[in-house]
Amino acid sequence: MKKLYYIDFPQEHLEGEMHKYRCVYCKVETTTINGKLEGHLPSCEYRKKLEIAGYKTSGLSEKPASSTSDDFD
Ligand SMILES: [Zn+2]
Repeated sequence: MKKLYYIDFPQEHLEGEMHKYRCVYCKVETTTINGKLEGHLPSCEYRKKLEIAGYKTSGLSEKPASSTSDDFD
């Protein structure tokens, strides 16, 4: 399960910067995140939430864990 772009995270406006936004959790700018899950810090709440939900970052390739999937059937 993988999204093309991860842009549905909560963002906040950078003070003093006209068109800059950053993730409210890890404070990384959206231009740095660039729509990628691994653009967020590993400690980011949003990233952790999606990783727990089964979304993979392209960096780590852990073996498919037999996690309890309660999303479908
Ligand atoms: Zn983040």
